[in-house]
Amino acid sequence: MSQVFNFSSGPAMLPVEVLRRAEQELCNWQGSGTSVMEISHRSKEFIQVAEEAEKDFRDLLKVPSNYKVLFCHGGARAQFAAVPLNLLGDNTTADYVDGGYWAASAIKEAKKYCSPNVIDAKTTVDGKRAIVPMSKWQLQDDAAYVHFCPNETIDGIAIEEQPDFGDKVVVADFSSTLLSRPIDINRYGVIYAGAQKNIGPAGLTVVVVRDDLLGKARQELPSILDYQVLSENDSMFNTPPTFAWYLSGLVFKWLKEQGGVAELDKRNQAKADLLYGVIDSSDFYRNDVAIANRSRMNVPFQLADASLDSLFLAESLKAGLHALKGHRVVGGMRASIYNAMPLEGVKALTDFMADFERRHG
Ligand code: PMP
Repeated sequence: MSQVFNFSSGPAMLPVEVLRRAEQELCNWQGSGTSVMEISHRSKEFIQVAEEAEKDFRDLLKVPSNYKVLFCHGGARAQFAAVPLNLLGDNTTADYVDGGYWAASAIKEAKKYCSPNVIDAKTTVDGKRAIVPMSKWQLQDDAAYVHFCPNETIDGIAIEEQPDFGDKVVVADFSSTLLSRPIDINRYGVIYAGAQKNIGPAGLTVVVVRDDLLGKARQELPSILDYQVLSENDSMFNTPPTFAWYLSGLVFKWLKEQGGVAELDKRNQAKADLLYGVIDSSDFYRNDVAIANRSRMNVPFQLADASLDSLFLAESLKAGLHALKGHRVVGGMRASIYNAMPLEGVKALTDFMADFERRHG
């Protein structure tokens, strides 16, 4: 079979160079005669892996020294609970911006711990789905923090604006966009991301937290979610997901070799431009998100004739273009084009789309 391009939203495609390296050293890591999966997380060999991964991550995103980087379990959904339980203190409310499926899921979880002030940011512009500008978000003075999701993986909606809310603690779910572009970490109190899109395999969650926010946790917070406990134990309060941490470390090295997040930013823009360009130039395909809020990572699109959906999916699969089925709550198609997806993969998809349209349009 010719090369496969995997458009899965997560777990997602990983750089082939990283997989090859992991394959080479799987059974005999660093000449140890065992795999990295089989050694103690407290061994000096693994601690070196862990420290190097953290250093490379910090370099890539220019994480300031007053921020801790935590390597956690539980996925982004664990952070939906960890955030309120770590940050609310005695406060009973926090601002939550609802821009799509994942922001709404965070709100649902937060309701267990506080009365969120929900800001519905979903709107339409010229009939297209869009996000209300940040200047119109009605934040509350007494809210402990404001939470939002800059990239809605299912809806294909992105918030491109940078938060600028004075002293307000800003928390963001960067699950589907972290490492795809530079970010100014100083604007945030906490950012978090499940690894399985741009970072590495599922099982690892990266949390970046400003150090003045540690130590405010509620009494009932499970220790395993407590940022202070995790920080004091260098993310090894319990046994961390060592293989996912190691593999993510290889992805960070790969990112550095590619030229870092500034270079990936350019490539991701070029890939998104190509794909949206093909969608916009045709009546056969449609994307219903306003241009200013289109995600560069997750591109949902519909066929004008939905009865062709299953044929499109069957033929694209045969052409080596995998996992293009849209999320079950949205339908249609979705192409996730994270860091590891090369431009050739998007070209192969757009060539296929043009050919499919020629034959069925
Ligand atoms: N937030 C966003 C933006 C996501 O895309 C996802 C997963 N697709 C989640 C949260 C949930 O992540 P997890 O499955 O790691 O808990």
